[in-house]
Amino acid sequence: MNPIRHIAFGYSTKCNIRCGHCVASDDSIPHGKMTLERALAIIEQMARCNVAGISFTAGEPLIFFEDLNRLVQLCSEKDIYSRVVTNCFWAKTSEQSDDTVSALRQSGLSQLRLSFSRWHQKHIRRENVVNAANSCQKHGLDYFISFVTDFSRQDESLEQFLRDHHLKFFPEPVIYLGRAQGFYPPRILTDYHPNTCNMNPYLSPDLDMFACCDGGNQFKETDFLFLGNLRDYGIHELFKRKEGNVLFHLIRTMGLTNIASYLGLKANEIVQYRKCELCEILFNSTENLNTLEKAATSDLLNWKR
Ligand code: SF4
Ligand code: SF4
Repeated sequence: MNPIRHIAFGYSTKCNIRCGHCVASDDSIPHGKMTLERALAIIEQMARCNVAGISFTAGEPLIFFEDLNRLVQLCSEKDIYSRVVTNCFWAKTSEQSDDTVSALRQSGLSQLRLSFSRWHQKHIRRENVVNAANSCQKHGLDYFISFVTDFSRQDESLEQFLRDHHLKFFPEPVIYLGRAQGFYPPRILTDYHPNTCNMNPYLSPDLDMFACCDGGNQFKETDFLFLGNLRDYGIHELFKRKEGNVLFHLIRTMGLTNIASYLGLKANEIVQYRKCELCEILFNSTENLNTLEKAATSDLLNWKR
């Protein structure tokens, strides 16, 4: 019996805006799009190998509105939970917003994730996000707002805006990869936490599959997170590669902090890194990766209290 699986589905990396912090739509990543027929066939295959949830993400999925409706419909027919991540460009008025949300609801969409941040809101009016959230409530579609922030003072007014409108939101840390790589991250004020990561896999429009959706295609030195291309392997085989990799298992269970400590990083250095930065230090270095691969099934696996 296959385990229950989830995936971030990159139908296209194209986007209608250009956020300054974007990981998915970085200039170094070629902007592609799958054909609709190909995407439908992949979802059929996914349904056969126990994929229970698909999140349509990457660029802005709803610039291909008709296609997305069809993909969501197929998910619904196959009993797959579906989520669309969107920047709300389509919610300029409450009427436009209602039309889009009710069409998605009728297609069987399970959840809409609305992106909100000081980078998104340079291009999209913040009222669009309110319109979209209100339409979701009106049409009975589950939603939440992903409030991407670097936790600095300048984001306080945005957070207050969400509170003033009684919207359901969850702060999400900026990932300092892609376009955000050049940012100067504020100092971290936190304790020594394990930095485990769920590692939700990601399928790109070119059919490359990665072990995680956030940094997946960014670790160029080692290609540590690259699982293979769907033209060469079946979807089941690519999931098995992820599930059978001991280092991925340790990232999910032991966490990056303990792996870094095992490797010799000092505790006072480890606390200065965010999760994906630590992950890059450990696994986007050939030397570190070789050491960790050698230890993965022996010393490292037994590195526990
Ligand atoms: S809306 Fe999303 S995909 Fe588009 S540029 Fe912004 S962060 Fe990137
Ligand atoms: S911590 Fe590593 S595996 Fe997890 S999202 Fe970041 S880059 Fe991907």
